[in-house]
Amino acid sequence: MKITTNTVPSVSYTLKVDGQVLDQASKEQPLLFIHGVGMMIPGFEKELEGKQAGDTFDMVISPEEGYGERDPQAVVDLPLDVFKDEQGVVNTEMLVEGNVLPMQHQDGTQLQGRILEVGDQAVKMDFNHMLAGQELHFTGEVIEVREATAEELDHGHVHGPGGHQH
Ligand SMILES: [Zn+2]
Repeated sequence: MKITTNTVPSVSYTLKVDGQVLDQASKEQPLLFIHGVGMMIPGFEKELEGKQAGDTFDMVISPEEGYGERDPQAVVDLPLDVFKDEQGVVNTEMLVEGNVLPMQHQDGTQLQGRILEVGDQAVKMDFNHMLAGQELHFTGEVIEVREATAEELDHGHVHGPGGHQH
């Protein structure tokens, strides 16, 4: 079976950025996803389209086809007040450069922010995706391809081994 929209490929892969391995899935514990529904970055899906079990891949994905370009507007200075707990105390332990904190937008959406700099009055945070602006190098192999079940399409995720257990 070939990888097309609404199939579930299982793939092993290694993701490298600037020659450094950032992420991996082994043949024994491959990545499973519903293809063609926007679960994966566009470039990854485009490259896998039409491949079948046993096919290997070696792709370089540009930021446009990956996690997008870095947005300078997504780097913001947040006043220290934002980090006060219910007692009005700033938790300085979590305010460490490089830490990634779950934050909430005014509209309630969750986002991850990486601390760039901790000042006396403010904390500089970067809300860009860690891989924004990066060229992504994926190598790997297609292990298996099957049809997604109606239930999986309905839930929007994969069931069974490598997926949701419920
Ligand atoms: Zn489900």
